[in-house]
Amino acid sequence: MGHPVLRERARPLEVDEISTPRIQRLIDDMFNTMHDSQGIGLAGPQVHESIRLFVAGVDDDDDEGTMAPVVIINPEITQVGSATEEDWEGCLSIPEIRGRVPRAADIRVRAIDRHGKQISMTATGFPARVIQHETDHLDGVLFFDRMESFRSLTFLEEYSRYWSSGDG
Ligand SMILES: [Zn+2]
Repeated sequence: MGHPVLRERARPLEVDEISTPRIQRLIDDMFNTMHDSQGIGLAGPQVHESIRLFVAGVDDDDDEGTMAPVVIINPEITQVGSATEEDWEGCLSIPEIRGRVPRAADIRVRAIDRHGKQISMTATGFPARVIQHETDHLDGVLFFDRMESFRSLTFLEEYSRYWSSGDG
């Protein structure tokens, strides 16, 4: 947090660019970085690449929630229905801090995958939260900006001690 790129609107990727070795290697590197950091999502601006691309998800399912690994490029999100949910979020760019963030409960995502193919999917609950958090990074938005109040801001150690056993 503090690097200007995190506050910029990232540029869309051209379809021709996606197949280049640079972008394919970047995607692989981002998955590795995310796994090494035990994150659930990582967006281009977080590795100082101001492009509309993020990776998300984990292979194993003993992590919090479950979400299959995805590569999302140039996403467009629309809310489905009007339900919102508040839950805890953290961010690899804001280490050791958690806070409660309201998000749309159900969304539809249109995007391009790493093969340059148009994809469309719906997501609910935890995966929907992750996708909204990562898409925000592409618009220079951090989860603090979405919080209704800062009263729930919590250091990770205190989160683990007081809050992680339930949704509080
Ligand atoms: Zn983040």
